[in-house]
Amino acid sequence: MPMKTPILLTAQEAEVIRALRKKGQISRMQISDITGWSKAKTSIEIRTLIDKGYLMEKDEGLSEGGRKPKLLKFNDQLGFIVGIDIGATSIDVLLADVFGNILQHVSEPGDVRQPPKTVLAQCIILVDQILKLQGCQGDQILGIGVGVPGPVDFSRGVLVAPPLMPDWENFPIRSFLKEAYPTAYVVVDNDVNIMALGEQRYGDAIGLDHFIFIKIGTGIGSGIISNGKIHRGSNGCAGDIGHICVDKQGPICRCGNRGCLEAMAAGPAITEKAIKAAQNGESELLLRFMKENEGIMTPELVSAACREGDEAALEIIRSSGQMIGDVLASLVNFFNPSHIFIAGGISNFGNHLLVAIKRAVLRRSLPLATTDLQINFSHIGAIAGNKGVIALVLEYLFVDEDKPFLSV
Ligand SMILES: [Zn+2]
Repeated sequence: MPMKTPILLTAQEAEVIRALRKKGQISRMQISDITGWSKAKTSIEIRTLIDKGYLMEKDEGLSEGGRKPKLLKFNDQLGFIVGIDIGATSIDVLLADVFGNILQHVSEPGDVRQPPKTVLAQCIILVDQILKLQGCQGDQILGIGVGVPGPVDFSRGVLVAPPLMPDWENFPIRSFLKEAYPTAYVVVDNDVNIMALGEQRYGDAIGLDHFIFIKIGTGIGSGIISNGKIHRGSNGCAGDIGHICVDKQGPICRCGNRGCLEAMAAGPAITEKAIKAAQNGESELLLRFMKENEGIMTPELVSAACREGDEAALEIIRSSGQMIGDVLASLVNFFNPSHIFIAGGISNFGNHLLVAIKRAVLRRSLPLATTDLQINFSHIGAIAGNKGVIALVLEYLFVDEDKPFLSV
C-alpha cells in the first residue's frame, strides 16, 4: 500500500501509538485507561487506526472468565524498516519488521571520504540485495534510517561541517534515497545518537530515561537520552563532547581549536604518545611491538602492552581515562544521568581505562549525582549502531501531524 510518510497522526492517534510502542500489545481497556477516553471514543479511535492499516487485533488477552479481550498490536503487514549504518570504513544495511526484529543484515567495506553519491549508490545496491534476500519490493519499505559519522542537522537531515566527510556538507541524503524508494520516510542522525537509541531499545538501557552513551575511537562523541528521548539540542549537535577544551595549550584538534578532549585522549593521541614512549626509551615493549608491526603504532598495540603490564602504556591509558573522566564529571554534575555506557574501538582497553574514567568521575562529581551512577562498557557496543538505526526509524515513523520532528 503506497503510504504518505512519515505516517502522520492526529494527537489522539499518536497517544494510542505511544502506548502501544511502550507495551508491544495492548487491550482496549488499557488504551481507555491511559488516554482517559470513554469506551465509545476508544472504539472509534481504534477502528480508525485499524482501517488505516496501522493496527491489527490479536486474540490472546487474558480475562477472568468470559470472552478473552482482543489485544491490539502493530499490523505486521504494514511493511519493512531499513537501517543503513554508515561507518568510516564500513556500511551495514539491515531489514527489520515493524516490531524492530532484524530479518536481514548485509555488511561490506566502504569509504565515507568518498563523495556522498558514490557511498549512497553503494548503500542502494545493498538495500536492493536485502530486499531480494527477504523476497520483497522497494515499495514495501516504510522507513529508512541512516546513521552517519558526523554532525547532523536532524530536522533537515543533512551533515553540517563534517570533519571526516567534508564532501557530504549539506548533501540531501533524504531526497537522494527517496528517489530510489519513494514510499519510504528517511531519517538521518549521527552515529552516536543512534548507538544510544540502540542501547535503549536493545541493550542494558531498556527502561532507562537519563543516560549518556559515549563512543571513544578515532574521535569522541556522545548521545544523550533525557526523559527517555534523545536530546539533540536546538541544532542537533548536543553531545559533541569531543570538542570540550581540556588544555588551552594542547595540540590542535581537527576542528581547528586547541586541546579538545578528542585531540588529547582519543585513538590518535594515544598512538602518538605511544610512539614517543617507544622512541625515547620509556618503553622497550612498545618499541618492539612497533618494530614487529612494520614500524606502525596502533591503539591495539598499546592495548596489548597494557595487558603485559607495561608501565608506559598503562600511564598513557590512565591519562586518557582521566581526561575523559574529568569531562564526564562535569556532564554528570550538569545532567545527572543514572548510567554512562562506553563503546568504540578504544573501549577495548578494558579495565585500565574504565577504572581511570570512574575514578575521575567520582572524584570530581557532586556526591548526590554519583549516588546511583553506574559507568560501564556497553555490552552491545559493536552492534549498537546497527540496532539503533532501526530503532531510529521506529521512533519517527509515526508522528504527530502538528510536531513532525517529535517522536510519539
Ligand atoms: Zn576539537
